[in-house]
Amino acid sequence: MIRLKTEEEVALIRENALLVSKTLAEVGRHVVPGVTTLELNKIAETYIRDNGAIPAFLGYGDFPYTLCISVNDVVVHGFASGYRLKEGDIISVDCGTLMKGYYGDSAYTFPVGTVSKETERLLKTTKESLYKGIEKATVGNRIGDISFAVQDHVERAGFSVVREMVGHGIGRKLHESPEVPNYGSRGQGKKLEEGLVICIEPMVNAGTRHVYLHDDNWTLSTSDKKNSAHYELMVVVRKGKPDVLSTFDYIENKID
Ligand code: MG
Ligand code: MG
Repeated sequence: MIRLKTEEEVALIRENALLVSKTLAEVGRHVVPGVTTLELNKIAETYIRDNGAIPAFLGYGDFPYTLCISVNDVVVHGFASGYRLKEGDIISVDCGTLMKGYYGDSAYTFPVGTVSKETERLLKTTKESLYKGIEKATVGNRIGDISFAVQDHVERAGFSVVREMVGHGIGRKLHESPEVPNYGSRGQGKKLEEGLVICIEPMVNAGTRHVYLHDDNWTLSTSDKKNSAHYELMVVVRKGKPDVLSTFDYIENKID
């Protein structure tokens, strides 16, 4: 069942969205060669708790960390560890908060130092595909319009879209209806209505779209070991123009 949100609820979700956005930026400031992913996880947990929220992923199902940290060929849901980042890696950081009864959830893929030209293109294309999807989050469109916009942009660039994991509604629960796939057809799927809050989150592989699940039952990696990128923002469906709740502006130094 889809639950449309009141403006009061949107305001509370926005608070979470901004905290998640700032947490990602705080983590990003520490993404340098030599740092361990456990250190990044700790930075996020401290920041979230200092700001009066609870890390939403910690203990969700049995997920054991504050962040999903997915390096290089890991697509999503990677575990923090003693691994030290090195120049040329990419690291997807997915972060969730719970505050005042509502959730926030966003993700960003950071390059570690200088990455290859092809990897740079993967990151750029994936982020662009997210914004292409967001543009379609307006009243009168359907979920499939978002899905198609993402897939079309990714595949034109020669990359592939992961099918096994999808975006989702968000609110009082971390994952609500509807699902928001990153592949699909225009004009298909549920109608987008005013006040629907969704997470759009393309997961894009440099090579094959196929993935496999590790023995830990969480970590998802590309089958061909090539890199994968992931960006996620939270959006309210509106008439005419979507309202984007979370932002990469803190990460990209457009605002403090
Ligand atoms: Mg999500
Ligand atoms: Mg997420």
